[in-house]
Amino acid sequence: MRPSNTRGRPPSRSSADLSPRPLARQLSGARCLAVAGGAVLLALVDPAKTRVFGVCPLHWITGFHCAGCGALRAAHAILHANLVQAVAYNGMALVTVPVILAWVAAEAIHAFTGRRLGPPRGTAQFGKILLALLVLYTVARNIPLASFDGLRPHVL
Ligand SMILES: [Zn+2]
Repeated sequence: MRPSNTRGRPPSRSSADLSPRPLARQLSGARCLAVAGGAVLLALVDPAKTRVFGVCPLHWITGFHCAGCGALRAAHAILHANLVQAVAYNGMALVTVPVILAWVAAEAIHAFTGRRLGPPRGTAQFGKILLALLVLYTVARNIPLASFDGLRPHVL
């Protein structure tokens, strides 16, 4: 039952202006701001020259390179438009960064419009393929042969 004080008038704002979940929109905005802040920090601070971002625990403990080793250095290189160096640090960055950008764009659309975009068709299959690629990349960059040296993070 509707409250009696509306007297049949339409609401002052359209339903498109009001998200049924304002907290969810605020969290989407907060995630966008966090990613933007991280990008600014990565653009300003070179992870190759400081330990402020920490080290990969897997590499630190075992000496093995995970799929993410070199990703921050690659992101820094991408933010400075040095794609060749980015690939040298972490070749998977060229796959994962567009995925992250698409996610941030979807979050921004949700934050500003309240419209939650569903996953694109084929997302489940893409996720499985990406996961398989990350596992294969991790294995390949730890094969102790010279022909796989290029997969380990390195400076050109
Ligand atoms: Zn790692």
